Amino acid sequence: MATKQEAGRHQEVGHKSLLQSDALYQYILETSVYPREPESMKELRELTAQHPWNIMTTSADEGQFLNMLLKLINAKNTMEIGVYTGYSLLATALALPDDGKILAMDINKENYELGLPVIQKAGVAHKIDFKEGPALPVLDQMIEDGKYHGSFDFIFVDADKDNYLNYHKRLIDLVKVGGIIGYDNTLWNGSVVAPPDAPLRKYVRYYRDFVLELNKALAADPRIEICMLPVGDGITLCRRLS
Ligand code: SAM
Ligand code: CA
Repeated sequence: MATKQEAGRHQEVGHKSLLQSDALYQYILETSVYPREPESMKELRELTAQHPWNIMTTSADEGQFLNMLLKLINAKNTMEIGVYTGYSLLATALALPDDGKILAMDINKENYELGLPVIQKAGVAHKIDFKEGPALPVLDQMIEDGKYHGSFDFIFVDADKDNYLNYHKRLIDLVKVGGIIGYDNTLWNGSVVAPPDAPLRKYVRYYRDFVLELNKALAADPRIEICMLPVGDGITLCRRLS
């Protein structure tokens, strides 16, 4: 049983799991995640922990999940929207074959460059094509070009939550039939079930409505199959059907 204090802590913004107790989450990390975490991912995780915005990083268990998923689907051509220091990017780069490709986009290049030396040392930087700037115009350009239709095996979306539905409109065209789009943070720190008067932090409250709208729209979209997993802060996998 979780103590009162543990339950309280568990509701803190930024907690990386929605499990019932901190102890259970620690058990997962210590038993199956940390012992198998590649040295480079550990180094990047520890480096990121020193950064003031470290609340944004992908958790180690989610990194392990993404790495496994990409191998299971034999992903080769992928995209990531929202890189930060690159923990999920490294999890992806390590999973792809040597000639695999990741189109990675972020409005902030500085944070990407913080993690880049670790990615280079791991020998996987050649798989990454980093584009600095907002992702939406890049997606529009790719759709206009015509040659990227149905070309991505996997797309990880982990950026501005108020644009997820705008991304979805475009990504459904860019992901291949049978390919997967993963939308991150779809449980939005558990706030998706918070009562209207719950004391939420400002940014959690602001983005909550967008996440709620996205979740409804994905569930109603006949072009995809979906699976919402309580990994990290919630990730919804969407498999393109047609
Ligand atoms: N996947 C990252 C990881 O594993 O550490 C975490 C990404 S963080 C939650 C969100 C990122 O989205 C930030 O680095 C932010 O700069 C970026 N971002 C915000 N708006 C964006 C936009 N319009 N286009 C591209 N990136 C954006
Ligand atoms: Ca995230």
